[in-house]
Amino acid sequence: MSPTDATDSIDLLAIAAHRDDVELTCGGTLAKAARAGYRTAILDLTQGEMGTRGSAELRAKEAEHAARVLGVSVRDTLGLPDAGIVNEPATREKLARVIRRLRPKIVIAPALEGRHPDHRVAAQLVRDACFVAGLAKIAPELPKHRPLKILHCLAYRQDFVRPTFVVDVSDTFEVKLEAIRCFESQFAGLTQAGEVYPNGEPLEDVVRHYSAYYGTLIRRPHGEPFYTTEVMAVDDVLALEVSTF
Ligand SMILES: [Zn+2]
Repeated sequence: MSPTDATDSIDLLAIAAHRDDVELTCGGTLAKAARAGYRTAILDLTQGEMGTRGSAELRAKEAEHAARVLGVSVRDTLGLPDAGIVNEPATREKLARVIRRLRPKIVIAPALEGRHPDHRVAAQLVRDACFVAGLAKIAPELPKHRPLKILHCLAYRQDFVRPTFVVDVSDTFEVKLEAIRCFESQFAGLTQAGEVYPNGEPLEDVVRHYSAYYGTLIRRPHGEPFYTTEVMAVDDVLALEVSTF
């Protein structure tokens, strides 16, 4: 699976710093979109070569397996240095080229804050690269393309930014867990990963509890929270969901 395999535009592209980041933060949303018939893709910015567990090769196999579980059409890595992602003209152009090949309508990015510097930088890099992808004079051999919208994952954040919306992933939460389990070299026996702080329980249980909490925000069993810098539009106030009482 590589960007060159993409024959059609991608509807939903999730970009994150490390393999397994998107499974943890928006795996349910990706699986739900794929089930609805949308073409989805994942771009991992690094190969995770700085991880203490497993090799980059093993993580690549696990990442491909997880992509199949989530029904993703395309998964690739940009090959930026793990623990050394920099938002600069060269990396913006490199990422913008992939965005132009995949032509996503919506892009999912990491949260704007994060304890891992790669996560914070990746969030800004994704925003800037999506903008640059719409500039005709950069990489003019590829037709310009700018996604409509960027959604920042908010799962596990403890800076308490209010989600702009929560996706109901009740029907795909178990698929998300299955995708997370694909990263056995990373997570087997672990209680902590990425931005998920440990509480002594197995990682899977922590993920389940967070997911249930986000679900309660929309009165559903499971949810994944997102933040957008833009306000959401409402057409019919009488069709609004989520009871005040
Ligand atoms: Zn990460």
